[in-house]
Amino acid sequence: MKIIMLGAPGAGKGTQAKKIADKYHIPHISTGDIFRANIKNETELGKKAKTYMDQGLLVPDELTVNLVIDRFKNPDCADGYVLDGFPRTIPQAESLDAALAELGEKIDYAINVDVPDDNIINRMSGRRACLSCGATYHIVHIPTKEEGICDRCGHELILRDDDKPETVNKRLSVYHEQTQPLINYYTAKKILVDVDGTKDMADVFDAIVKILGA
Ligand code: ADP
Ligand code: ADP
Ligand code: ZN
Repeated sequence: MKIIMLGAPGAGKGTQAKKIADKYHIPHISTGDIFRANIKNETELGKKAKTYMDQGLLVPDELTVNLVIDRFKNPDCADGYVLDGFPRTIPQAESLDAALAELGEKIDYAINVDVPDDNIINRMSGRRACLSCGATYHIVHIPTKEEGICDRCGHELILRDDDKPETVNKRLSVYHEQTQPLINYYTAKKILVDVDGTKDMADVFDAIVKILGA
């Protein structure tokens, strides 16, 4: 099963993608996580990506597309994957379709996690992330057992630089301009499904399982 997660920054794509990956035994591929790992390891890609990410801008397509397409060649992708944060532009979506067509494959579902901008600001300011294992929490909605410590791996949690309110507004406008057009793109391909992302995390996941099958 090949799945794309669509939605504004902070809509809950990553949270749901991790649950999908666990339940359906497919890898969770997050371009944001890949960039953050590169920044942490101070790679050339990381250095380039950081300049865009810190401003709330998208990393250019030419630094992004091949990264994802190479990732598909890994044997763990044999039964599919859930893509989180990619594609984010029409050219990325077109490159993805072309690469899949060459392999005789296609995306099965584009799941749009729908959350209005007003809720987004609250979600991002409360988001806490573990750079060690990729887990994400929310100080009010999805708290950890011990404040500031990852439940899964025990590392310290951080507030992402790009989750500060000034940058969040920029990311939201970039989303509306460059990413939201993908909703029409996948609607035209008849694979778009909408879920109400304002519901509790478990209810959103139930709606997704209804779509994907148990
Ligand atoms: P969120 O989950 O909050 O939307 P991500 O972790 O997906 O954030 O992305 C963080 C940042 O990484 C983005 O603001 C952007 O700068 C960069 N990024 C991630 N995925 C892509 C992509 N597919 N194309 C361009 N930039 C990307
Ligand atoms: P995205 O990957 O779309 O940027 P995340 O999955 O990182 O979004 O979620 C953004 C923030 O909102 C995180 O702090 C997360 O814990 C929290 N969150 C995710 N889903 C829900 C939900 N259904 N209700 C409330 N908070 C949520
Ligand atoms: Zn962790």
